[in-house]
Amino acid sequence: MSARIIDGKAIAAEIRREIRLDVSAMAAQTGAVPCLAAILVGNDPASATYVQNKARACKEVGITSARIDLPTDLPEASLLQEIARLNSDPSVHAILVQLPLPPHISERRVLEAILPEKDVDGFHPVNLGGLLVGAPLFVASTPLGILELLNRSNVGIEGKHAVVVGWSVVVGKPTAFLLLQHHATVTICHIKTQDLALHTRQADILVVAAGKPGLVTGSMVKAGAVVIDVGVNRLTDGRVVGDVDFPGVAEKASLITPVPGGVGPMTVAMLLRNTVDACRRSCDAGRPPGTMPAASGTNRIAQS
Ligand code: NAP
Repeated sequence: MSARIIDGKAIAAEIRREIRLDVSAMAAQTGAVPCLAAILVGNDPASATYVQNKARACKEVGITSARIDLPTDLPEASLLQEIARLNSDPSVHAILVQLPLPPHISERRVLEAILPEKDVDGFHPVNLGGLLVGAPLFVASTPLGILELLNRSNVGIEGKHAVVVGWSVVVGKPTAFLLLQHHATVTICHIKTQDLALHTRQADILVVAAGKPGLVTGSMVKAGAVVIDVGVNRLTDGRVVGDVDFPGVAEKASLITPVPGGVGPMTVAMLLRNTVDACRRSCDAGRPPGTMPAASGTNRIAQS
């Protein structure tokens, strides 16, 4: 194997240490403690575990978290009311709604109900649109985590050819736009892309977020490429693997993220950072939520 492994677990631990220091400095200066409210609808075990892990991570860095458990058959209007209550609560700086939601509830309507300045998942259209113009309040945690992994591994982005496989609103699209904002030349591939390998072989930086185990093999990667595997796939034998055939691709790549232990830990770390930013903005502005000024802080990204 020739590739160096990007240790997302270690990098995320370093970021959490920085956040812990930030949180205590902010508390000392302003008395404010960031607070994240997480809404869980229903009793899907995987979703419950995700929410539990986020709450544990909050506690570890000194962020307060509130978990709101709601029944599966909750009417959409009741969920919207709960979000309105959290929107107007000045002690809550950040709100997330764990996805997926039950089929009778519109995810889009729910995500749009969260105030953009509390939308630490970055899924509100105002924040997604902000990414297009280079000044979102929040960028989704997974794409932010990918950028942070590249930065902390000293991977230059400017002028590189980045290929993103997958164009979901959660991962693919925001990752592609972040890379573009950092002056990569970006190709986005999706299910209708013809000859995927033709594109992936051109990538200096290859981000794979398709949810298809083994989609990208060694022969589809340029020698020396940096490969970020976002996929999380549980196989029938219980193993969790990414979208990339790790042994084959590691022979060709210069840097590669493992699954687990690559992008995953970064997603939670960046959610914590977004929560701290939400609290800091609220303190800096010294005004009630809903009347925030333009973007500032770590999510301001380079204007092209
Ligand atoms: P998603 O909404 O299902 O999107 C998958 C994307 O991949 C779609 O845009 C799809 O294109 C594209 N795609 C699927 N098969 C393809 C193929 N053969 N060739 C080219 N494109 C293909 O999933 P997601 O939410 O973006 O997540 C992607 C993966 O990342 C999943 O495994 C998920 O579990 C994982 N994930 C990990 C983290 C983390 O923290 N590590 C966070 C989020 C997601 P079309 O839309 O055109 O069909």
